[in-house]
Amino acid sequence: MIDKFRWILRSLLGRLFVLTLVSALLMISVSQGAFARARVLFSLRSEPVEAELPTVEAIPNPFKNPALLPAVPNPSIGYDPPQRTAMADPSNYDRRVLQDVDGNLLTNPLVVVLHETVGTAQSAIYLFQTHHPDDWDQVSYHVIIERDGTVVYIVPIEMRAFGAGNSVFVNANGRVEGVRTNPDFPPSVNNFAYHISLESPPGSWESGPTHRGYTEEQYQSLAWLLARTDIPDDRITTHEAVDRTESRIDPRSFDRQRFLAILHQYPNRRA
Ligand SMILES: [Zn+2]
Repeated sequence: MIDKFRWILRSLLGRLFVLTLVSALLMISVSQGAFARARVLFSLRSEPVEAELPTVEAIPNPFKNPALLPAVPNPSIGYDPPQRTAMADPSNYDRRVLQDVDGNLLTNPLVVVLHETVGTAQSAIYLFQTHHPDDWDQVSYHVIIERDGTVVYIVPIEMRAFGAGNSVFVNANGRVEGVRTNPDFPPSVNNFAYHISLESPPGSWESGPTHRGYTEEQYQSLAWLLARTDIPDDRITTHEAVDRTESRIDPRSFDRQRFLAILHQYPNRRA
C-alpha cells in the first residue's frame, strides 16, 4: 500500500517537474520573442541613417552644433543660477534623426518649446526617470526650471526628448514644420525641439486656464539658459502654440515680454 502511495507520489512529482520544465522553456521562448519584437521596434525608432546615406554629412546638421555659447551671468545683475542633473531613463528619449520615416532629409533648426510641470518639478522628474517600454508612455523634457530658479538637466540637448506628441511649428515664413519619426505616430516637433518646462506654482492643478505665474528666478534662469544658444526669438514658442490636439494650454500665465526683456540684457541676445 505504502509502495503504491510512493509510486503515485513519485509519478506526480515527475509530472510536476516535466510540467515546470516545459512552462519555463515556454516562458523563456515567449519573452525572447517579445524581446526580439521590442528590439525591432526600437531599431525602427532609432535606426541611424548615416550608414544608409553616405552623403548625409554634406547636409548641414543643426544638432551637431547647437551653438551653445559659454554661460555667463546676467551682465545686468550678475545672475548665475543653481544647476543640477537628474537624467531621464533612456526609454524616455532617443536620438535626433536626420531623416523622417519617408526618407526626407531633415534640416529644421532648433525650436524652443516652453512647458509647465503642473505638478511639482520632482514629480515630473520621477515620471521621466521611470522606465517606460511602451511608446505611448514615453515622456520627457530637456530641462526643468524649479521655483527657486534651479536649472535641472534631464535629457541632453543633442538627444530627442518626448515633450510634444501631435504637434507642428509654424515658422516666421508661415512654413509648417513637423517631423514624423515613427509610422505609428503623427508628426511632431520633438526631433528639432528644445523642451524647457517651468515648475508650476503649488496647487495649480485646480487653477483653470491661469495661475499666479512664475518667479523672477525662473524668468532669469530661462533667459540665462537661452542666452547660451543662438536660437532666435521667433523660434521660442510654447506647447500651446505647437499642439494639434487642442488639449495643451501650457505654460499658463507665461509673460513673454517679461522674459524677452531679460533675455535681451545679454549682449549676444540684444533685439
Ligand atoms: Zn507641455
